[in-house]
Amino acid sequence: MPILRQIAQLGQPVLRRLSDKIVDTEDPAIQMLIDDMLVTVADADGVGIAAPQVFAPLSLFLVASRPNRRYPHAPLMNPVVIINPEILWRSDEMEKGWEGCLSIPGLRGFVPRHRRIGVRYLTRKGEVREEEYGDFLARVFQHEFDHIQGTVFVDRVESTQELMTEKEYLKIQSCNP
Ligand SMILES: [Zn+2]
Repeated sequence: MPILRQIAQLGQPVLRRLSDKIVDTEDPAIQMLIDDMLVTVADADGVGIAAPQVFAPLSLFLVASRPNRRYPHAPLMNPVVIINPEILWRSDEMEKGWEGCLSIPGLRGFVPRHRRIGVRYLTRKGEVREEEYGDFLARVFQHEFDHIQGTVFVDRVESTQELMTEKEYLKIQSCNP
């Protein structure tokens, strides 16, 4: 049975180190970690989660967008398991959007990201995939990819004026759906 994992909060060194590549995707401990991350991200109303956020400094994350309390307008998708990702190309076009993070509760930041990216990664079965992501999913991918390099969204805001509390953010969202 998958279990909810504790989420590392900003200040934990595990969020600030470079993650290690996964050598064997079929390792039962890795498969169990993935199953636990799937229930943990759903329980926490996240749209993605990276392994370092559950104290596993490994090159693994989930993109798991769905509308929820924290992201009422997120697109609905089946969660994608991303192992040992590479970003192959990034569009010159950037877009700013509001982000939050399960490791930094209560805070949102207006973060510039590449509008489109091309990526390569391994699936949980160890198969190589190449995909293109745009807009919100490209944003989630770049946010989670940052986590496995030890970077968090507050490192990416252009100004501290572009931070706000989650409570204020959700108020504004409900006025501008
Ligand atoms: Zn995060």
